Amino acid sequence: MPEETFVIAGASLAGAKAAETLRAEGFAGRILLVGDEIERPYERPPLSKGFLLDKEPRDKAHVHEADWYDKHDVELRVGTSVASIDRAAHQVRLSTKEPVGYDRLLLATGASVRRLEVPGSKLQGIHYLRTMADSAALKQAIAHGGRRVVVAGAGWIGLETAAAARAYGNDVTVIEPEPAPLHAAMGPELGGMFAELHREHGVDLRLDQGVAGFWGAGQVSAVVTSGGAEVPADVVVVGIGVRPNTRLAEEAGLEVSDGILVDQSLRTSDPDIFAAGDVANAYNPLLGRRIRVEHWANALNGGPAAARAMLGQDVVYDRIPYFFSDQYDLGMEMSGVAAPGEYDEVVYRGDRAAREFIAFWLSGGRVVAGMNVNVWDVTGDVQALIRSQRPVDAARLADPAVPLAELA
Ligand SMILES: Cc1cc2nc3c(=O)[nH]c(=O)nc-3n(C[C@H](O)[C@H](O)[C@H](O)COP(=O)(O)OP(=O)(O)OC[C@H]3O[C@@H](n4cnc5c(N)ncnc54)[C@H](O)[C@@H]3O)c2cc1C
Repeated sequence: MPEETFVIAGASLAGAKAAETLRAEGFAGRILLVGDEIERPYERPPLSKGFLLDKEPRDKAHVHEADWYDKHDVELRVGTSVASIDRAAHQVRLSTKEPVGYDRLLLATGASVRRLEVPGSKLQGIHYLRTMADSAALKQAIAHGGRRVVVAGAGWIGLETAAAARAYGNDVTVIEPEPAPLHAAMGPELGGMFAELHREHGVDLRLDQGVAGFWGAGQVSAVVTSGGAEVPADVVVVGIGVRPNTRLAEEAGLEVSDGILVDQSLRTSDPDIFAAGDVANAYNPLLGRRIRVEHWANALNGGPAAARAMLGQDVVYDRIPYFFSDQYDLGMEMSGVAAPGEYDEVVYRGDRAAREFIAFWLSGGRVVAGMNVNVWDVTGDVQALIRSQRPVDAARLADPAVPLAELA
């Protein structure tokens, strides 16, 4: 039988982890891992934390050692994109014009930053943060301190960047159209805690207003808010979310709706094409609906799950969405979905004033999400509670004397 070829489009965390799993599971055919960035696969969380703060070297972010790909006979093509898919011919065409036949194809093309389209948005000094190069450029702009940094967007990227900019001794203003930071991720209750945290660290946080435009002659010098205020700026960071990179899938006629639609085994509407990571809008049987998760753990686990499904294994990908963040001296992990509208009550266990607690979001008495703040080694218990889908006694949930495991 001729050797099989598995092609992976997108050489970041999901793609690299899928390649690793294919080899670990004994796949002996050809693996072509194609990535349009120059860098070999790397993880992005350090780009707004350790790497941006100059506390971690560049190499620490890489998914594998440089020689791992050769050693495992994984053909890594960096600086190359998958330009098109011919599903009928089972063939992709690379940006080099080279056609490559595939038996199975994994789309791990991730997401790209949403651009702010307002007057002045092309001025110098306006940064976005997705790639290693973006992070290096931002570091150069903020690392000397003493600059006026304006952050558009109080989501994860905006808040982590604000914390880094403060750590370097810059003046920082954050502008956010929602009533609280992280509003879409966790609602106003816990978003309010992040507002307090940043204000305590000297951030000028302006809520309920967006960015209407930028002033400057070549270089940005001020940000104009939707409320009409002019905020002086030497450096601007825009963190207003991402869009899934679905162009390839759309052009190939795959089903796409806020990401590439995949089933619980991460298979697209074409049985030989799979999708994982930020780009996949996957049916999660635990949640009973599709969800697109833009988190590190979903790329880390989804890539391998897709690889096993590509090998014909029976895969049910039902991970609970998980996220972590570090800002100043606050570390947190969050599991589940706590968007406004998904919950009707928030229950706390621990010391909120000292920011050492666990917050639980409940819907109809069932835990749908949990966040541990400066409390560790509880993610397993929190996720067990979510997975159990059983009503819990809120008083017992709030009582630190009752072991969480008992409630699940
Ligand atoms: C600054 C930053 C900090 C973050 N911090 C955290 C954190 O603290 N916690 C957390 O849970 N998550 C965090 N995330 C999110 C996490 O990094 C993403 O969820 C993860 O990177 C998704 O991995 P992925 O492999 O699916 O996609 P991506 O990382 O987006 O990679 C996709 C790759 O495919 C490439 N590509 C696209 N189209 C093609 C094509 N046609 N051909 C070839 N290549 C292509 C892209 O250029 C990219 O290199 C952070 C993200 C950023 C940007």
